[in-house]
Amino acid sequence: MSVTHAPQTADVLARQDPELAEILLGELDRQASTLQLIAAENFCSPAVLAALGSPLANKYAEGYPGARHHGGCEIVDVAERLAVERATSLFGAEHANVQAHSGSSAVLAAYAALLRPGDTVLALGLPYGGHLTHGSPANFSGRWFDFVPYGVDAETGVIDHDQVRTLARTHRPKAIVCGSIAYPRHIDYAFFREVADEVGAYLIADAAHPIGLVAGGAAPSPVPYADIVCATTHKVLRGPRGGMILCGSELAERVDRAVFPFTQGGAQMHTIAAKAVAFGEAATPEFAAYTRQVVANARVLAAALAEEGCVVTTGGTDTHLVTADPAPLGVDGRTARGRLAAAGMVLDCCALPHADSRGLRLGTAAVTTQGMAEKEMTRIAALLAGVVRGTAESARAREEVRDLVDGFPPYPG
Ligand SMILES: *Cc1c(COP(=O)(O)O)cnc(C)c1O
Repeated sequence: MSVTHAPQTADVLARQDPELAEILLGELDRQASTLQLIAAENFCSPAVLAALGSPLANKYAEGYPGARHHGGCEIVDVAERLAVERATSLFGAEHANVQAHSGSSAVLAAYAALLRPGDTVLALGLPYGGHLTHGSPANFSGRWFDFVPYGVDAETGVIDHDQVRTLARTHRPKAIVCGSIAYPRHIDYAFFREVADEVGAYLIADAAHPIGLVAGGAAPSPVPYADIVCATTHKVLRGPRGGMILCGSELAERVDRAVFPFTQGGAQMHTIAAKAVAFGEAATPEFAAYTRQVVANARVLAAALAEEGCVVTTGGTDTHLVTADPAPLGVDGRTARGRLAAAGMVLDCCALPHADSRGLRLGTAAVTTQGMAEKEMTRIAALLAGVVRGTAESARAREEVRDLVDGFPPYPG
């Protein structure tokens, strides 16, 4: 399951710019010698890295295949058509836009396609796992639209469906957004579709996190339900950093124009080629098995953390994501994250539905790409708990992490 070739050692870079080359090697070493538990991260394959580092990076290609504002696009047109074909077939969508530079750009384009400034939008509130683009005052979304937040049940951590329905009826939003940076359960897309239809709203699914699981068949697809699906290609999907938008043919032209020329300029053809490579990988039985293992690992990790005394939000997970309150181990999420970082365990803090303190957010996408399975998840939970409690000595824990990851190099060879 792990990727099997070393990335090209950057000989050219080392000769020309040793200072920068050393930084790259340092980061490669950091990724390989510490434990990557950030839920949004993964290790893309050497083939994806090769496409990213290719001369397609040189090509300017404003517009879409067959209708570019630059000459010489005949080859990159083939690459983009291939990426679009692979995406539509992988997700069973009528249309795919693969030019969005990031998940946030994809959401911006979705809003641009469907909304006008000042429109009302219903989305998961930021304290409950909504993304910055779901109405943060620090983001264009909060500045340009009137966001009404829905939440999760304080006790169960599950989306408060009654509240979603009530708020939709009261505020009659132009769009409803479902999707989160931290929600560990499957989202009930049929429910959101029903509410959107009842109040005449568009449904936007921001599936940045679970889209990779969807590709592998390990999570339900938002495609049959949402008017527009926004996604990233670099999380569980394991492609290059970037965004993607899926929709039906009736919105295809509006979505494409919302990306270019409305919110972006020239497409990044090297990234689009790398997206095509990732979609090709994601269509294989090996990737489907990978996504099942990602979820199996997250379930074991959640159960083991609960066993260690953490309060696991929603009592478990359906996805790659686990969020947990370490308070019963004696510290809040922020202190825990610092201790864990010192021991070489890299993860994020997150909001908690039941408390004002911060929790921990972990994901299993990266460690599963490395080939780790249930046994390693139990070991990680025990290590994590010892470090957070302060019973494991930091230097000793760092050695144990190194010992664990040494057996699972992300880029062997
Ligand atoms: C990751 C994420 C994004 C943004 O992706 P970027 O590529 O960082 O811009 C948007 N929405 C959700 C729900 C996400 O999880």
